[in-house]
Amino acid sequence: MQAIETTMKNLVQEKWNKRPLIISGPCSAETEEQVIETATRLAATGKVDMLRAGIWKPRTRPGMFEGIGAKGLPWLQRAKKMTGLPTTVEVATGKQVEDALTFDVDVLWIGARTTVNPFSVQEVADALKGVDVPIMIKNPINPDLELWTGAVERVEKAGIKQIGLIHRGFSSYGNTEYRNAPMWHLAIEMKRRNPTMMLINDPSHISGRRDILLDVAQKAIDLDFDGLMIESHIDPDNAWSDAKQQVTPERLAEMLDTIIWRKEDINSEEYHAALEKLRQQINHLDDELMQILGQRMKVAEKIGEYKKNNSITILQTNRWNEILERAVNKGEKLGLSNEFITRYFDAVHMESINHQNKIMNS
Ligand code: PEP
Ligand code: MN
Repeated sequence: MQAIETTMKNLVQEKWNKRPLIISGPCSAETEEQVIETATRLAATGKVDMLRAGIWKPRTRPGMFEGIGAKGLPWLQRAKKMTGLPTTVEVATGKQVEDALTFDVDVLWIGARTTVNPFSVQEVADALKGVDVPIMIKNPINPDLELWTGAVERVEKAGIKQIGLIHRGFSSYGNTEYRNAPMWHLAIEMKRRNPTMMLINDPSHISGRRDILLDVAQKAIDLDFDGLMIESHIDPDNAWSDAKQQVTPERLAEMLDTIIWRKEDINSEEYHAALEKLRQQINHLDDELMQILGQRMKVAEKIGEYKKNNSITILQTNRWNEILERAVNKGEKLGLSNEFITRYFDAVHMESINHQNKIMNS
C-alpha cells in the first residue's frame, strides 16, 4: 500500500513538472460510466497527463446542474486506477478539500468564483494546512491581479509549496466573442510577478464554444504558457454543464496535434547572435523614441506657459481631434493599427496635459 502511494506521488510530481502539461476531462462528473469512459478514451490518446472533473459546480444561476457531489469521488478514484491518470478537482470549502483528499484526488484547484472571495480562499487554505498536494488557482472572474495574488499568498501561507496558476479569462457585461475575455496582458503580468510559478491556460472557459478553442490554445502556447486545461466529454452536446465548449477525447487529441508547440529558447549560437543584433536595434529605437517624447513634452510645456499667460484652458478638444485624426491616417500608412495609435496618442496626450498642468499651477 505504502509502495503504491509513493509511486503515485512520484507520478504526480513527474506530471506536475512536465511541459507542456495537458489536463483534460469533463466539466462535470455526471455518471460513473461517463467518468470511466472519458478517462479511458483520454488515456488512449496518450496525450493527456491529468484527468479533471468538476464534482461541486459553482453555477452562476441556480437551477443548473450543480455537481454530483462527493458521490462522484470514488468514480475518479476508479478512473485513476484503470488509466493511471492522476486526478484534479475544484474545491471551494474546507469540507470539499477534506472529501477530495479522502478519495486520493492528487491535485486540487480553486475556481474563478472562489478566488474572488478571500473568506472562501482562506477556508480552503486552512483545510490545506499540513497537507502536501499541489494546488492550482484560477484567476478571479474580475480582472483584478491583487485578488489573484491574494489567493496565492493565502495558499502559500498555509504551507503549500507547489502552486500553479490557471488563466481562464475575465467576465464582462454584454455579449463578446469570448465567454470570458482573455485579457492576455493580465496573465503575462501575473507571470512576470511569479516567474517560477507554473501558468497554464484554460481555453474552454475563455472560448465558451468549440470553434475558437484551438485559436485560444495556440495563442497561449505562443505566449509561453506551461500547459493547457481543456474540457472533454464523450458526448459533448449532451453534457450536463458547459456543453457548447466541450470536445470529445479524440477531437482533443486532433487539436493537440494541430497546435504548433513552441519553446522559449533553443541552443543555437547563430540564432542567439541574430536575435541579439535585432534586440540591440530595438533598444536603440526605443531610446530614440524616448528622446523624442522628452522633446515633445518640452514643447508642450512651452505651450503651457503661453496658455497660462493668456488664461487659456489646457484641453482644447478641436486641437486634440485634429492631432488624433492626423495620427490615425499617418499610422495606417505605416502599418500601425487604429487601436494602437488611439491608445498611444491617448497616453502621450495625457502626459502632455500633466506637464502643462504643472506649469499652469506653478
Ligand atoms: C470549471 O473548470 O468547470 C469551472 C467552473 O471553471 P471556472 O472556475 O473557470 O469558471
Ligand atoms: Mn466548465
